[in-house]
Amino acid sequence: MSKQLIKGPRISLFGPPGAGKGTFANRIKEYYPDIVHISTGDILRENVANETDLGKTAKKFMDNGELVPDDIVIGMVKDRLKQKDVKNNGFVLDGFPRTIGQARILSEITDLDYFLLLTTSRDTIKKRILGRYTCDECGAIYNIYIKKPKKEGVCDECGNSVEFTQRSDDTEEALDKRLDAYETNAAPIIEFYEERGKLKRVPKENTLDLTEQEIKDLLEI
Ligand code: AMP
Repeated sequence: MSKQLIKGPRISLFGPPGAGKGTFANRIKEYYPDIVHISTGDILRENVANETDLGKTAKKFMDNGELVPDDIVIGMVKDRLKQKDVKNNGFVLDGFPRTIGQARILSEITDLDYFLLLTTSRDTIKKRILGRYTCDECGAIYNIYIKKPKKEGVCDECGNSVEFTQRSDDTEEALDKRLDAYETNAAPIIEFYEERGKLKRVPKENTLDLTEQEIKDLLEI
């Protein structure tokens, strides 16, 4: 199988849930505004919300804190990588690959330029994830420990009312399982990209604290 031709940077963000992959993807967009942010978690949640067949199957795994089977996620990513916006502008994968099988298949479709590893302590992750909630109206993210709206119950971004309702997989039990799943799968994936010279370690726990120079160094800009 010949590899897909994709212009622009091809990046994967790797790290435990709550490491700040989504936030970091937004920071990368400051340098590559047209790069396509592909979050497998977001695509799956969209399918769950729209009650598609894929969503119905995926929901059972997600609510349990388990990984969705490789064939489902790989099919989804393959379809997305074929689209024109990705071919023209590159991609930042957020949450893929999450298993060595996914990494191997991805390498058959296209090569990565950078595999960026984010590391965050379990304690910090728990605070970030178990306190996390979003505005149903505009998707702005808050945290009961770290970032409450300025006015209790009112979204800073859109002015609508927000209540503390968590994602259905943001419970302590599901989180422990997700972190265990991450640790089991991480080592061979990290080794896979290290061997290929693609691995770079993100030097800060909080991606919002990265300086412009640190980001430029990571992306070799
Ligand atoms: P995330 O939003 O990245 O934390 O993903 C939420 C959930 O979606 C995960 O706990 C998994 O159940 C599922 N998921 C997301 N990406 C993948 C993937 N690459 N492989 C398998 N399951 C995934």
